[in-house]
Amino acid sequence: MLTIGTHMSIAGGIAQSAKNVVLMEANTMQIFSRNPRGSGYKTYSQQEIEAFQKIRTENQFGPLLAHAPYTMNLASAKPEVYEFACMVIREDIARMDALGIETIVFHPGNHTGIGTEEGIRNIIAGLDQAISGEESIMVLLETMSGKGTEIGARFEELKAIRDGVKHPERIGICLDTCHIFAAGYDIVHDLDGVLSEFDRILGLELLRAIHFNDSMMPFASRKDRHATIGDGEIGLEALLRVMRHPALKDLPFYLETPLEDAGHKQEIQMIKEKLKESR
Ligand code: FE
Ligand code: FE
Ligand code: ZN
Repeated sequence: MLTIGTHMSIAGGIAQSAKNVVLMEANTMQIFSRNPRGSGYKTYSQQEIEAFQKIRTENQFGPLLAHAPYTMNLASAKPEVYEFACMVIREDIARMDALGIETIVFHPGNHTGIGTEEGIRNIIAGLDQAISGEESIMVLLETMSGKGTEIGARFEELKAIRDGVKHPERIGICLDTCHIFAAGYDIVHDLDGVLSEFDRILGLELLRAIHFNDSMMPFASRKDRHATIGDGEIGLEALLRVMRHPALKDLPFYLETPLEDAGHKQEIQMIKEKLKESR
C-alpha cells in the first residue's frame, strides 16, 4: 500500500495536524521538530499527545517524519552556530523519539568555507553527542542540491558521515527527488543507474524516506526550488516511475510542494489516480 503524506504545519498542535492528514486522505506526515526559523518549541500536553497517538493508530499511519530546523548548521566552524546546532539535534532526537516518531531528518549542513572534510568532521562530532544508541528513532541525512557550500549533494559525503559516527546503525537516508535532480543525478533518464549508484555507495537498505518534489530548476543546476508534482523539470512521468520503482515503492513519500492543505489533498488524489491508470 502507498504511504503518502505532506509536510504539515503544527501551528494548531500535533493532534490537529494528524486530523488534517486524515481529512487529506493521506496516511503519514512530516512535521517540523521545532520552529523552523527560530529556536523555540512547544511542549505538548499529555492530553494532546494521547489524541495524536489515537488518531495515528486508528488510521494506521505509516512512519512519521520530523524535520529539524533550517537554522541548524552542524557543519559550522563558528562556535555559537555549532553549539546551537548540537543542542537542537540532541534535544530534538530525544523529543521526537519520546513522541514515538519513527524518523527525524536534517540537512547535513553548510561548511561555509572550511571545506567539506572539516564540515563532515563537525557533523560527526555533533551526531555523536546527540545519539546514545538507545533510541528507537532513525536519524536521516537528507540528499541535498549542493547550493552554496552545502554538504550532502554527493552520496559519498553522506556515506562519510554515516561511517564516521559511533552509532551508524541509527543513521539512514532521506532521498529528496528535487534535490538529487538539481545535484546532477539524472532520475529522469536513468533512474536505475542512479539507484544502483546509491546502492553501491550507501546501500538501498539505508533509504527510509522519500521527499517527493518536482523541481523548478533545471537538471544539475545545484539550486533548490520545489515545484508541485508535474509542474517542474522532473515531470509527472519520471516522478511516477520513482514511486512505482520496486526498490522504492514501499517507502513513505512526503510531499514538500508549495501548496496549502487543500491543494495537497488534490495533489495526492491526482497522484493516486495516475498511479492506478499507469498500472
Ligand atoms: Fe529538507
Ligand atoms: Fe526535502
Ligand atoms: Zn529542498
